[in-house]
Amino acid sequence: MTKSADLHIHTYYSDGTMSPEEVVVDALHCGIHCIAITDHDTVDGISPAIEAARGHDLEVLPGIELSTEINGKDVHMLGYLFNWQDASLIGQLQKMQNARAERMKKMIQKLEALGIHDISFEEISGSAKTRALGRPHLAAALVEKKIVGNMRAAFDKFLAEGAPAYVPKFKQTPQEAIKFIKGLGGIVVLAHPMLTNADELIPALVEAGLGGLEAHYPNCSVNVMSFYENLARKHHLVITGGSDAHGAAKKHTFIGKVRIPYDLVEKLKQAVSD
Ligand code: AMP
Ligand code: ZN
Ligand code: FE
Ligand code: FE
Repeated sequence: MTKSADLHIHTYYSDGTMSPEEVVVDALHCGIHCIAITDHDTVDGISPAIEAARGHDLEVLPGIELSTEINGKDVHMLGYLFNWQDASLIGQLQKMQNARAERMKKMIQKLEALGIHDISFEEISGSAKTRALGRPHLAAALVEKKIVGNMRAAFDKFLAEGAPAYVPKFKQTPQEAIKFIKGLGGIVVLAHPMLTNADELIPALVEAGLGGLEAHYPNCSVNVMSFYENLARKHHLVITGGSDAHGAAKKHTFIGKVRIPYDLVEKLKQAVSD
């Protein structure tokens, strides 16, 4: 049997619901041989996942998903195989996490102005394990308090871009994210390009040092995936893929929904050492 990998997984250290230990158990159960923990703006899940996988036939790669913005477009960048224990990284992530906390306070104030008074910052930051507070945490609180019926309604009514409680997030450019991760010895992959809709930016990102495209993603047609595989080949980029599993926070996907052959992990490692 060929070895397989799922290189896009979130834990409860960002906006997923599973602990790193649960992620590892699930991955072993699915018969996957390699996973990457790719939380938003935090590396806290990496070490516990590596620990939990020790002694098992499961490799855990360090990863992260950074939100960037260019020309008004949201572009998610996946970093892999960087020095995740670097002190300057931890300091930089702390700043991003603080900015997320300040944003959460502003969104709660906006909800207050809309007459929703029973959501406090303390209860959200206290209940979530995450260091990277995001709109899904606030949406979950709105559902729990029965202010809306479900997460989708929370976004539609309050939190989606343009909705009354929306506050934009501080974001770096994709080029800055590439420089940051490459400076830590890692490689940067453009996350889910089929959702991002920014193909015209790819040549400039390649110029800036982009290393790969996430061509394999859930609920995506074979045609779309082979389009991005071909685009990756054209630009000499590594091809990756993953489930973007968030546990119960994203019901349409789960660990192992997308599996890529382990050869692609080897190519990713090769690209880092080149
Ligand atoms: P944030 O990083 O705080 O801006 O939150 C972004 C996350 O919110 C995304 O990763 C999605 O999981 C979720 N999200 C964004 N828009 C929607 C939406 N319209 N419905 C449900 N979830 C959404
Ligand atoms: Zn997420
Ligand atoms: Fe993403
Ligand atoms: Fe993701």
